[in-house]
Amino acid sequence: MHQVLLLNVGYEPLSIISWRRALGLIMRERVAPASAEGWTVRGVSAVLHIPCVLRLKHYVRVPATDAQWTRRGVLRRDRYTCAYCGLQPGDRRGRLVLSRRDMTIDHINPQSRGGKNTWTNTVCACRWCNQYKDNRTPAEARLRLRWTPEPPRITFWELSGEIPAAWRIYLRSGSQ
Ligand SMILES: [Zn+2]
Repeated sequence: MHQVLLLNVGYEPLSIISWRRALGLIMRERVAPASAEGWTVRGVSAVLHIPCVLRLKHYVRVPATDAQWTRRGVLRRDRYTCAYCGLQPGDRRGRLVLSRRDMTIDHINPQSRGGKNTWTNTVCACRWCNQYKDNRTPAEARLRLRWTPEPPRITFWELSGEIPAAWRIYLRSGSQ
């Protein structure tokens, strides 16, 4: 049951590993603790603390997951943040307080021009940016992407049930 969230050097979540694998990484000094919370494992000669979040000491290049593309997946990956203007649910636009329903899927290369439903061709965009961009590329619309969309590393939305509190700050797309 005890699982550990493994982060890359830059604090991006990489995977969820068993405490046994975590222990192996700790013993080989491959990781540093990234949370105070954790649990204690009693070995033959020592008592070891296993933090519930660990961070690798050296950068690991991880192959992208083959997570299936979904609209919801894109919104979650981008944390419901507009890739063009940065607006998020809860932000104000004039007198309107944005909600998740104001967030749409934008095809960077428009569908009308052959753009596909892929992780790298889609981003979350607020409906105003999406409408403004229309059937244009970001360059044509003079819009700049705030990040380069990539396939998600972990399909957080497939995690069910309780997510340990110490994980949440790293899994900003959250449990819901
Ligand atoms: Zn926007």
